[in-house]
Amino acid sequence: MTARGLDYLEVQGLTVDFDGFKAVDGVDLTLLQGELHFLIGPNGAGKTTLVDAITGLVPGTGLVRYRHRDLLSMRSHRIVRLGVGRTFQTATVFEELTVAQNLDIAGGVHRRAWQLALARRSMPEYVERALETVGLTALRDRPAGVLAHGQKQWLEIGMLLVQDARVMLLDEPVAGMSAEERQETGELLRRIGSERTIVVIEHDMEFVRSFADKVTVMHAGKVLTVGSVAEIQADERVQEVYLGRTGDAVLADPEAVAAEAAGEVV
Ligand code: ADP
Ligand code: MG
Repeated sequence: MTARGLDYLEVQGLTVDFDGFKAVDGVDLTLLQGELHFLIGPNGAGKTTLVDAITGLVPGTGLVRYRHRDLLSMRSHRIVRLGVGRTFQTATVFEELTVAQNLDIAGGVHRRAWQLALARRSMPEYVERALETVGLTALRDRPAGVLAHGQKQWLEIGMLLVQDARVMLLDEPVAGMSAEERQETGELLRRIGSERTIVVIEHDMEFVRSFADKVTVMHAGKVLTVGSVAEIQADERVQEVYLGRTGDAVLADPEAVAAEAAGEVV
């Protein structure tokens, strides 16, 4: 559990029950440090709810073990302090504050209130480092509201960095990004991922193919299968889940399918 030890987060029999409807239904998962772990599955599979339960936003039963603690018995702000952070499908930055100020505030989770001074000129070293890591140094003094969608997701990842999140759960971070931005995001996750436990929810199979070490496929609240990209792509049950739900060959090439649907020549 030291910086050099093998960190991991373990989920056992996790269930989230919304008035009798099990959005997450007995999920087992082991998430290892240094592995880029992708979580895929059709809309409504329970991916976001799984992350919500791990981070204390919805109540769950079962076990979510991290650093000898059961996260299910902890309040969400304590889970953040333990080093488990997440991003949302829609970025949740303070639009009126600058990029650097957003990072400064996020870093406050570990620091005293008096250390936070929005008006100060020079930012703490960890803010500057995070700006560099996520590639937003040039935009540090711009209001976060003017950032492009992709840049906001990078800022959110930066906010997890300044919070010293050792486990990062990223909910569709590359949705709506250009191919180039997706590539940059994947490279960013590789850079920061060796010392962290990172889970990425994503649909874009091109992105998954490029960066996933391990893929978990969810369907109807359950884990359908876990494996390498090649393994899950060859899995007929996975094909069926996607084909059955969407009528698209999502696993083949979602962009081509989308383009075709829009009447473009591919
Ligand atoms: P995914 O992220 O895989 O698309 P979600 O986790 O958002 O799926 O949703 C899983 C299922 O749980 C869906 O059927 C959704 O409608 C349902 N659900 C999510 N949140 C709630 C809630 N707060 N109350 C009731 N049902 C919910
Ligand atoms: Mg979702």
